[in-house]
Amino acid sequence: MSKWYIFILICLLSEIAFTQSEKVVIRSINIGDSTLQILQEYGNTEDSILFINVHEDEVTSIETVYEYSTTNPVHFVRLKHKETRRVEFTIRNKAFSVDPNRIYTKKGRRKTLRDGGKFTFKAAKEVRYFAEEILTYLSNRSVIIAMHNNTDVNYSIKSYLPGGDEAQNTKEIFINPDMDPDDFVYTTEKEYFDKLKERNINVILQDNKKYVNDGSLSVYCGLNGIPYINIEAQKGHFEEQMFLIREVMAIL
Ligand SMILES: [Zn+2]
Repeated sequence: MSKWYIFILICLLSEIAFTQSEKVVIRSINIGDSTLQILQEYGNTEDSILFINVHEDEVTSIETVYEYSTTNPVHFVRLKHKETRRVEFTIRNKAFSVDPNRIYTKKGRRKTLRDGGKFTFKAAKEVRYFAEEILTYLSNRSVIIAMHNNTDVNYSIKSYLPGGDEAQNTKEIFINPDMDPDDFVYTTEKEYFDKLKERNINVILQDNKKYVNDGSLSVYCGLNGIPYINIEAQKGHFEEQMFLIREVMAIL
């Protein structure tokens, strides 16, 4: 390697380090007596597209957005807590736990608190404030792109077929038999569904009337008419999830 080559390389690397450190904004929010952090990776906070991750243990989905954002600036918001799916918090030394993708409706909050071991009205109120903090990032967006990974062998696009666990949420479904059934897109918008189907991508259209009110972000967006896309891939399917991001961005 020539000296000049090394010199240019060092300049480029320090430039990347500089830009990335500038991009990360950390904001703290409280839930009960506990504190969580919201990290914003941008890009452009005014961007009409919001990438969001709420399950911190779904690392592939986070890594793919970071990688994508190195060449395509995006506004990415994610929760930072204890690198677990569920968010744990305390109120006066009593422990509670919620799934941060089940807190956007009253019914969802009640169920996820119960699933976490304990429901109280005070806890539900705290979780509502927490959910509202996250939802502020959704305002003035043309589309929300939620990033998820699955590991459960029983959960895939096939769960959305008639007779499957998620069948009630399905308005339309398209399966490409050559794709892994764990890698798929879920959306609230017919237009996006049609375009992804045309591109031969595994895709589900949410039934915005009959869906199960589990308090997830897709339900909240369906209720409020906010265009929503979930890019779901098996944990570790980095290339596949990156491919799905590119396909989704191509139709927007
Ligand atoms: Zn998830």
